[in-house]
Amino acid sequence: MRRRASQPPGPACAFPGPVRVTQQDVRYPSLVGRGLRRFRGSPDEVWVAGATEHVVQAVQHAVRHDMRVAVRSGGHCYEGFVDDPAVRVVIDLSGMRKVSFDPLLNAFAVEAGATLGEMYRDLFLGWGVTVPAGWCPDVGVGGHILGGAYGPLCRSAGLSTDHLYAVEAVVVDRHGTARSVVATREPSDPYRDLWWAHTGGGGGNFGTVTRYWFRSPDADGDDPAGLLPAPPASVLSFHAEWDWQGMDETAFGRLVGNHGQWSEQHSSPDSPFTSLYSELHLLRLPAGRHVMDGQVADTGPAAERLLDAYITALNQGIGTPFTLQKQQLPWLTSALRGPGVDASPYRVKLKAGYLRRRLTDQQIAAAYHQLTRTDYPNPGGALGLYTYGGKVNTVAPEATATAQRDSVLKAVYVAAWEDPAEDDTHLAWIRSFYRDVYADTGGVPVPGTGNSDGSFVNYPDTDLADPRWNTSATPWSTLYYKDNYARLQTVKARWDPRNVFTHALAVEPPPT
Ligand SMILES: Cc1cc2nc3c(=O)[nH]c(=O)nc-3n(C[C@H](O)[C@H](O)[C@H](O)COP(=O)(O)OP(=O)(O)OC[C@H]3O[C@@H](n4cnc5c(N)ncnc54)[C@H](O)[C@@H]3O)c2cc1C
Repeated sequence: MRRRASQPPGPACAFPGPVRVTQQDVRYPSLVGRGLRRFRGSPDEVWVAGATEHVVQAVQHAVRHDMRVAVRSGGHCYEGFVDDPAVRVVIDLSGMRKVSFDPLLNAFAVEAGATLGEMYRDLFLGWGVTVPAGWCPDVGVGGHILGGAYGPLCRSAGLSTDHLYAVEAVVVDRHGTARSVVATREPSDPYRDLWWAHTGGGGGNFGTVTRYWFRSPDADGDDPAGLLPAPPASVLSFHAEWDWQGMDETAFGRLVGNHGQWSEQHSSPDSPFTSLYSELHLLRLPAGRHVMDGQVADTGPAAERLLDAYITALNQGIGTPFTLQKQQLPWLTSALRGPGVDASPYRVKLKAGYLRRRLTDQQIAAAYHQLTRTDYPNPGGALGLYTYGGKVNTVAPEATATAQRDSVLKAVYVAAWEDPAEDDTHLAWIRSFYRDVYADTGGVPVPGTGNSDGSFVNYPDTDLADPRWNTSATPWSTLYYKDNYARLQTVKARWDPRNVFTHALAVEPPPT
């Protein structure tokens, strides 16, 4: 008989069964409103699950009645995959948030409905360890991890998926029977392909994840405190601002160029700067400034020296008014606070691109134009440049489903606004921004051309599948998964042969 994971210790599930909420139910608006503001679905039913068995029942119900099903964990999806009008049953994992140590698998079990903040808090207070993952504590573990999640500790500790030991998922076989399976990274595990697909294959593709287990690949022994990275006791948190009004195109180019050059020089796995993480947001001119939030995963004189050297390198030859605020924070305080950006009041559209090298002069000029255009007055637009690389780049592209393993930066293009009546205006702006930056490669960051290495599936962008916006010969699936896509399709065929789990950018069944 196949080995099953133990049920982690803790209080029994609070729900006697799945809670089935229909449109007339007083709880319905709270549940369908959990996603980002730009999307609002109208499913017939939301099933709130408190245990794996509840998810099995919900999926079985959807399959039996031929209703399109989607799962929501933290509700932070940047596209309307869960809120798609075609979705009739939403499985909401709000009742599955337990974090525990599972002695049978010698790994930490995290239920998929937990938020990153809940995972950070429980792992740290319980065992003094963490999983290196994203900076927003409200993001859900469920959708985050399987998109190849990254965050402030990843340059020194790798991606969260690099520490994924096992996954429990509810899948549907070719006869339409839903069941839960556990897949591990053990080479002898016949289900290993399913584990692999969850190391960057993206949300909503193969089944519904109910639990993740984490243990670092190089960990040994059975002392839980030694099985995952230990975060620093405290961090040097920083917030920098550059005055936009006094910055001309030359100074703008220097700031972006300095930042790119620093990233090229200090993102090798053995660099002392892997403890430094930053998110530079080059904002639209009406916002009046550019901002950077970051942290050094350490405090004391050495951390101060790293930060000083970084800021000095960025400011070479700029001469614009600049401010820097620094603060020493206990690590958990910093992790639960995040960068302090609250996206919830806004309608947001994101696009992304991996960068192996700095932006070219031509790309910087395109960014300058889009951030200063006077025919588009919105202050809520930005180009984000996030530090990357370090330990992330020690893993082979095919070892996990996250193929991008030699980038030094992530580029993030953001439009944020409030009024739904303005959607078209802001979508047009961000589309033209992206098209201009990648003008030489059909408007998208084609892997292996110039400085680009595709895009990041945790920031999904349906425009990549739209020939109006992707005029390259490279399909969206290659932009996200590169050479790993064919293998993901094979996993799809094995584990979701009826294509039950699908959305606008879902892994497609292999060609027949
Ligand atoms: C404010 C904000 C900050 C962010 N910061 C970071 C960051 O620092 N680093 C980073 O890597 N990413 C970041 N992201 C992106 C984030 O990782 C993705 O949006 C992720 O998919 C969110 O997961 P979720 O469970 O919260 O979202 P959901 O909306 O619940 O789900 C997202 C997608 O995953 C699927 N999914 C959800 N749960 C499951 C499950 N249990 N099993 C299978 N599929 C599932 C959904 O069906 C959907 O397609 C951020 C997003 C936001 C909005």
